[in-house]
Amino acid sequence: MEQQKTDILSLYPEELEAEILAMGEKKFRAKQIFEWLHVKNVDSFDKMTNLSAQLRARLEEKFCIKSLFVCKTLESCTDNTVKYLYGLDDGNHIESVLMEYSYGNTICVSTQVGCKMGCRFCASTIAGYKRDLTAGEILGQIYTAQRESGRKISGVVLMGIGEPMDNYDNVVRFLKLLSCPQGFGMSLRHVSVSTCGIVPRIYELAELNLGITLSISLHAPDNAERSAIMPVNDRWDINELMAACRHYFAKTGRRISFEYALIDGHNDTREDAKKLAALLSDFVCHVNIIPVNKIKERSFTSDRKAAHRFQQYLNELGINATVRRTLGADIEAACGQLRREYEMN
Ligand code: SF4
Repeated sequence: MEQQKTDILSLYPEELEAEILAMGEKKFRAKQIFEWLHVKNVDSFDKMTNLSAQLRARLEEKFCIKSLFVCKTLESCTDNTVKYLYGLDDGNHIESVLMEYSYGNTICVSTQVGCKMGCRFCASTIAGYKRDLTAGEILGQIYTAQRESGRKISGVVLMGIGEPMDNYDNVVRFLKLLSCPQGFGMSLRHVSVSTCGIVPRIYELAELNLGITLSISLHAPDNAERSAIMPVNDRWDINELMAACRHYFAKTGRRISFEYALIDGHNDTREDAKKLAALLSDFVCHVNIIPVNKIKERSFTSDRKAAHRFQQYLNELGINATVRRTLGADIEAACGQLRREYEMN
C-alpha cells in the first residue's frame, strides 16, 4: 500500500524543521522550503530551484503540496471581483472570492467541503457536509488566487463554504501559519473569522487572543426567528451566544461584527430593528446588513432598498450599521452557488 504523504503546507516551521532534520538534511533547508511554500507560493517541489534534484525527489516521495487546481474562474464585468472554483485532489470542489477594495485585495475562503449547519438561506449546506479542509488547503486558496490573479492579497475573510469553528484546529493552524513572520506574514488584524454561533469555540478563541475580527452570523433578533432559519440556535441560543461575545470582547478588546442577512417577511421590520438594538445595546459592535442572496432551492428574497431602510432604523436607535457593498453581483458571488451548480451539471 502506498504510504500516505504528509501535507507539507500545513506544517509549522518547527515541524518542517524536525522532518527535514530526520531526513538527514541541514536545518537551513527547512527554512528554504518554508520560504518557497509560503513566500514564493510555489506549487511543486520542482520549482524549488535552490535545492538539489536529489532532495527535491526525496521531498516528492515523502510530502505532498495539497495543490488546488482552478476548475472555473468567473470575472465580474462591473468590478474586479473574481470567483474561483477550485478542485481538490479527492475530487471535491470549493470556492473562493477575490474582492477589490480601496484599501487592498481581500479574499473570502472556504474552510470545509459543504457545511453541517443547515442555515436555511445558504447554498453551501444544501448537499450536506463532506469533510474539513486542512490548514494547507485553506492557505492554498490564497496562494493560488494570488498566483493566478497577480494581485497581492492583504486581507482574508473566513466566510466561504463551511463553518470555521466546526473545523477549529485546522483554522487555528491556518491563522498561525498565515501570520507566521517567516512565511506570508499577514497581520491577523486583517483577518475576519465568521461563526454561526458555536459557543464553546468562541470561548476558546478568546483565550488565544489572536487579534482577528470575530464576525457573528446573527441574522435574527430573537430566538424564535433565529431558530426558524438557523438550526444552530437550538443548540446554543441567543443568550448563550451574546454571553460568549461579551466574554470575547472583555478578553480581547476587539470590536465584534454582527452579520445580518435581511430576509423579506422574516427579520426586516422596525420591530425587528428595535429588538436587535436592545440585544446589542451594551456592545461595542458593528452590524453588517446583507440583502439575502437568492438561491434556487429557497424562496427567500430581499433588496438593497429594504437593507438601507433597516440600516436607518438601526442608526436611529444608536446602532452602528452599514449595508454590505455588493461585489460581483453579475457573477453570483454568493457562497456555495458556483460549486453547487458545477457539481449538479
Ligand atoms: S451560512 Fe455558514 S454556517 Fe450557515 S450553512 Fe452556510 S456556510 Fe454553513
